[in-house]
Amino acid sequence: MDNASHIDVIVVGGGLAGLSAALVAARMRLRVVVVDAGKPRNAVAAHSQGYLTRDGASPAELLRLAQEEVAAYGVELLHDEVLVATKTSGEFQLELASGGSLQAGQLVVATGVKDELPELPGLAELWGRDALVCPFCHGWEARDLRTVFWATSGIDLHRAALVSRLTGQLTVVGSQQLIAENAAALEQLVQRGVALQEGEVAALESDGDSAGVPRLRGVRLADGRVLPAQAFYFLSRMQPHDEILRSLGAAMGETPFGPFVRVDQSGQTGVPGLWAAGNVTDPGAQLVHAAAQGYRVGASLAATIALG
Ligand SMILES: Cc1cc2nc3c(=O)[nH]c(=O)nc-3n(C[C@H](O)[C@H](O)[C@H](O)COP(=O)(O)OP(=O)(O)OC[C@H]3O[C@@H](n4cnc5c(N)ncnc54)[C@H](O)[C@@H]3O)c2cc1C
Repeated sequence: MDNASHIDVIVVGGGLAGLSAALVAARMRLRVVVVDAGKPRNAVAAHSQGYLTRDGASPAELLRLAQEEVAAYGVELLHDEVLVATKTSGEFQLELASGGSLQAGQLVVATGVKDELPELPGLAELWGRDALVCPFCHGWEARDLRTVFWATSGIDLHRAALVSRLTGQLTVVGSQQLIAENAAALEQLVQRGVALQEGEVAALESDGDSAGVPRLRGVRLADGRVLPAQAFYFLSRMQPHDEILRSLGAAMGETPFGPFVRVDQSGQTGVPGLWAAGNVTDPGAQLVHAAAQGYRVGASLAATIALG
């Protein structure tokens, strides 16, 4: 691409948050470049749910449509990775993995998170199919299935309550300590027909389906028992891709999921010209929230430029 001509906005991360910011900014006649490494968080899932008008579309299809829409407004999409970001004299400079560099006065970081899976044999091959984290994303598709919920913290039991709405065949597995410390919450679940098993989850067991794709068969506990299961809920650890934001001085705030970069109501960090949207700043954001946050950032930075 021609880097010599002036770029108004660089968006790092081409998921729905970044592309939504790009769409709105480009429609305000700003020159926008999106740099995307092409590893959206939900890539392992066959379908994405709950995005109105596109419920059930594959993550790849949703992104393809979004890329087409932004391209129609002249947004340039680079398949690359930003390695280093600096700011001098009011301009952001980005160094790319390909060796190139980019410069602009406004920088949107929408780089998402990485889900770190617990070390559990058999989990990685079932992740996003039968091994799930989000009842809102996959709960309907896994409704009525024989389900095991691995409870690893007391505050996480609210997800078990949600799952109990989706299947009448739910077993919650937790350690002796977790069960003792959360007796009241667990009793409520038991009253709703949820089975409770004390134990440590040791592995997931699977069989290949007719196409050879691994499907969950059971959850093995440390004492050797195997609980038959078709769906398994667990908690991943979300690691924000926030190196760029932190290196530029963005402030952090505490969340129930650990420290995340803090933004104001418009999506701006405390650093002038530096914006963030989507999971990188909001661990709870689903696709529709990520897109909405990107929209807000695109509109806010366009207003900043227009008024500046
Ligand atoms: C298994 C699974 C299933 C899910 N299913 C659903 C669902 O059905 N419905 C729903 O609403 N939500 C679902 N989610 C949540 C959804 O994935 C997120 O809400 C959404 O991806 C957040 O969008 P984002 O734009 O913030 O980040 P992402 O979609 O993760 O996009 C971030 C992009 O930034 C890129 N990037 C990162 N660092 C750099 C860098 N340095 N340089 C260049 N590019 C970079 C990444 O490669 C990636 O392409 C699911 C999540 C998981 C894990």
